[in-house]
Amino acid sequence: MNSHTMETLERCARKAGAIEPCSLCGGYDVYVGDDEADRMTYAMATNAWKAGDSGFRSMWKPAQVSAVVKQFLDAANDRCPSCSIP
Ligand SMILES: [Zn+2]
Repeated sequence: MNSHTMETLERCARKAGAIEPCSLCGGYDVYVGDDEADRMTYAMATNAWKAGDSGFRSMWKPAQVSAVVKQFLDAANDRCPSCSIP
């Protein structure tokens, strides 16, 4: 996944509410864990792909878009790496 793809996924996930900035420090995005927001992220990413978003240029079928969204959400911080107590 290149940086363009990453930017697009971040934008979709933020707008969908699947990730949001840490409420304490605001320095890191934290995974919200809301199923509805996750579904919204998939939908928004697929729409961006259909619209020809440059982040998905190398992808030619929806399953590839879903795969990078899943990868992105799986990799998102469950807790803020700066504030969370280990
Ligand atoms: Zn924090």
